[in-house]
Amino acid sequence: MDPSSLDDYRAHGGYTALRRAFTLGPADVIREVTDAGLVGRGGAAFPTGRKWQATASQPDHPHYLVCNADESEPGTFKDRVLMEGDPYALVEAMTIAAYAVGAHHGYLYLRGEYPRALRTLEHAIAQARARGLLGENILGHGFAFDIEIRRGAGAYICGEETALFNSIEGYRGEPRSKPPFPVEKGLFGKPTAANNVETLVNVLPVLTMGAAAYAAIGTPKSTGPKLFCVSGAVARPGLYELPFGATLGELLDLAGLPDNLRAILLGGAAGGFVRPDELDIPLTFEGTREAGTTLGSGVVLAVDDSVPLPRLLLRVAEFFRDESCGQCVPCRVGTVRQEEALHRIADRTGAAAADDIALLRDIGQAMRDASICGLGQTAWNAVESAIDRLGAYE
Ligand code: NAD
Ligand code: SF4
Repeated sequence: MDPSSLDDYRAHGGYTALRRAFTLGPADVIREVTDAGLVGRGGAAFPTGRKWQATASQPDHPHYLVCNADESEPGTFKDRVLMEGDPYALVEAMTIAAYAVGAHHGYLYLRGEYPRALRTLEHAIAQARARGLLGENILGHGFAFDIEIRRGAGAYICGEETALFNSIEGYRGEPRSKPPFPVEKGLFGKPTAANNVETLVNVLPVLTMGAAAYAAIGTPKSTGPKLFCVSGAVARPGLYELPFGATLGELLDLAGLPDNLRAILLGGAAGGFVRPDELDIPLTFEGTREAGTTLGSGVVLAVDDSVPLPRLLLRVAEFFRDESCGQCVPCRVGTVRQEEALHRIADRTGAAAADDIALLRDIGQAMRDASICGLGQTAWNAVESAIDRLGAYE
């Protein structure tokens, strides 16, 4: 499909879902999304229908819709591909979400390092406006909605939804404490539905196929298709779409595994490593959780034995130290101390003293238990899994 052509999008079935949404009405759109079992694809798998219902039912007004397109997890690029290749799908899906939750203004918070996605989306939004698909009276249905793009400026933390709200409002990109959740007090203190790009785009098949047909794809707890970002030591890196429930091995067979596979990082820097003998892990939120790891936003990074693990872990630790917003002590201090300990180990060419490991565990637990947001809470995941699952420093 030509991503610059609204006509091409319509010729491929574009705007069928919005027409169905207008036929159903907001409450039944939310019912369909709930019955489809759609869960958030940003990484946390929160039920989308529940989020929309909670936003729609708030007495305070106005309600806002925010599309979180600040995709920054290392190894994640699915939302970029969606936005660059299928921008009208996101515009249509945002319109449906806004209709469902009673929002008339939507913000699309786009990662600053995605200039092509910016151009594609600006063009798509302008075309949709010119053709009555955004604006005061969409499709002559009396519903008013428009989308404003806001660009990030390179901070990983601004992908955290409440830091993202602060960034839009003109404040420092620092997370707020939750609760209250955004559905109650979000952007400008008003009820806000914040959804990831891939989550929103999945609303289109939910409405065109119907909830039951959509829910039949995948597993009962992780329904529908999922995009996986495969990178690293594979023959064919790229974006793969599979139904939830396919195994890690099935995905990596498509991408072409090396003979000297050492580990796979699932879920990005905030995720965890698994071993080459764990390829039967099902790619679902519940399956990865049961296996003691995480699916996150769908990062699958293959590491072969040419990669020195201590260097890789040091790189992950540097990343978290650099991206910590510094607002709370456990993360601000913990990410620095974690990196220092890993430097000491790397300086000894990867051999860890027992007290370094004990210190890393102490710091990691403090960050996990006491940090305000997901960044600090997950900053030790990759290092911990490398120690416990891969024996990285033995
Ligand atoms: P979270 O579990 O706190 O929240 C997930 C979503 O559900 C949020 O929108 C939150 O507002 C909502 N929510 C949770 N409980 C709620 C309740 N009781 N009522 C109403 N709404 C509720 O997780 P999070 O911190 O938003 O996200 C963490 C995830 O982000 C991780 O899994 C990580 O993998 C992922 N992540 C993704 C990227 C990326 O680039 N895609 C980057 C970093 C992290
Ligand atoms: Fe900032 Fe880290 Fe605290 Fe999150 S955990 S608020 S990134 S200092």
